[in-house]
Amino acid sequence: MKQRVIVATRNAHKVEEIRAILSDCEVLDLSAIEDPPEVEETGTTFVENAALKAEAISALTDALVLSDDSGLEVDALDGEPGVYSARYAGEDGNDALNNAKLLRELSGKKERSARFRCVICLARKGEVLADFSGAVEGRILEGESGAGGFGYDPLFAPDGYEQSFAELGEEVKNGMSHRARALEGVVAWLSSIRPI
Ligand code: IMP
Repeated sequence: MKQRVIVATRNAHKVEEIRAILSDCEVLDLSAIEDPPEVEETGTTFVENAALKAEAISALTDALVLSDDSGLEVDALDGEPGVYSARYAGEDGNDALNNAKLLRELSGKKERSARFRCVICLARKGEVLADFSGAVEGRILEGESGAGGFGYDPLFAPDGYEQSFAELGEEVKNGMSHRARALEGVVAWLSSIRPI
């Protein structure tokens, strides 16, 4: 029997990546929950925000719930945008505005090293059972390139590549991303338990 997991996010790109990587699981999105609440990300760390989302959604179902909190840390910006990656250009911002702001902040800067981080929590009935983290090192390009992925993908080239995640495509990204690395821990954890 396949392990059923509900992903506690409204980000369809995250669900798609998680579904591709957890190919042995039945991965459902938030439509599996009736009237899911908007969970406020009031934490100051990835793990706090991932736990808030997993706890809130898993309290509404008997199924296993997986949450993802992730973001981009840029060394020349002292780790910004970090946990505020989704809201970098403001509460009403979007990926295009976030990317434009990042390019402005880095304008003229030679030091462009950065990493994506991801924390994934598994929770059941309102309680976090385990958390896993992953990171991928790289650098911020001088301009956007590529049409794949989401968020900062058009600006982020992982170490060892000239192309951005958006150019490299989902197979390459899912083989090395922060999310893929955190999900390695999830796969190992799930294989050590019987389906719940
Ligand atoms: P969250 O929904 O609060 O975890 O916000 C995550 C934000 O971090 C996204 O909106 C993106 O801006 C950024 N982010 C996280 N993971 C990725 C990724 O895999 N590619 C590009 N941007 C990402």
